Amino acid sequence: MPRPVRADISLAALRHNLTLIRQQAGQAKIWSVVKANAYGHGIDNVLPGLQQSDGFALLDFSEAIRLRERGWNGPILLLEGFFEQADLRLIDRYQLTTAVHSFWQLAAIADARLRQPVNIYLKVNSGMNRLGFAPDRLHAAWLEASACPHIGDITLMSHFASADSDTGVAAPMALIRSLPPEMGLPHCLANSAATLWHPATHADWVRPGIVLYGASPSGRWQDIAATGLRPVMRLSSQIIAVQSLQAGDRVGYGGRFRAAGAQRIGIVACGYADGYPRHAPGGTPVLVDGVRTGIVGTVSMDMLAVDLSPCPAAGIGSMVELWGPALPVDDVAQAAGTLGYELLSALAPRVPVVTG
Ligand SMILES: *Cc1c(COP(=O)(O)O)cnc(C)c1O
Repeated sequence: MPRPVRADISLAALRHNLTLIRQQAGQAKIWSVVKANAYGHGIDNVLPGLQQSDGFALLDFSEAIRLRERGWNGPILLLEGFFEQADLRLIDRYQLTTAVHSFWQLAAIADARLRQPVNIYLKVNSGMNRLGFAPDRLHAAWLEASACPHIGDITLMSHFASADSDTGVAAPMALIRSLPPEMGLPHCLANSAATLWHPATHADWVRPGIVLYGASPSGRWQDIAATGLRPVMRLSSQIIAVQSLQAGDRVGYGGRFRAAGAQRIGIVACGYADGYPRHAPGGTPVLVDGVRTGIVGTVSMDMLAVDLSPCPAAGIGSMVELWGPALPVDDVAQAAGTLGYELLSALAPRVPVVTG
């Protein structure tokens, strides 16, 4: 028997989430964001569940090429653009759409030898101060792009820093509305949070990522619990040993947990080298045979311990859900001081993934 840790990917949940997002997005087309190996789910695994996407957005050329090799002939968007002029050969060969956020990229495209014009997403910095032309330089960038024979369709792109919080999108939207109207560009602005919570941002294309996988853009499951979005990944394992502790006994590296009285704990074959967060404190939720309990002690590389007090019938071989449909990854992430995004995308390569 292989080590019992595994990740199950539900294609039905993916399809369901995409359908739900499409209803939410109205007329806008959907770039399904599959960067970071589809947020840890595996690009190859999710492709069958996301066939109804209008396009796929990602960062790595290797992932773009994989999609082409898997038969995806529709649009692919490079969210971070390209990194040096030589990259344009791949953009041309695989017909990729690329973000353009700097003048050097426009110059590189103008200089390149391409078989066909490249479609670009001209990115404006609307306040996040990560990528994008300053708003007062955008018009100049657009003039240069529209005069360039190597450039085909131009779409205006921006990214929101706070669409998931009370700060919202008012300031960046005001900035975008104040851009010179004669550019007349289609717009692509919304990430998951804006797609869900700010319909005025939907425009021509939306770029949802995390919601496709059934986790919350805000990091709080309650914020999406009523939407009907379904978790796509279930990380599970089994109890491979049981320890009966006496008062004062300690558990794990550093002995950080100390039993107050007699207590059974289960040792689960899952640790931080599987992608479980090492910083998860005692009490981080976990399901044993469907019963909610908490972890105890420090998470090790290959194992963690769980309190079996709420589930006295549990023992060796009991099923453990680390996160999944019955335990939102957001709840685990919150306990560990991070986001579902980080836990999902950190799923380790050694964990076997099963699609169904
Ligand atoms: C990652 C990313 C997205 C998707 O973000 P979610 O919060 O997962 O929806 C959208 N646009 C850009 C530019 C991104 O980098």
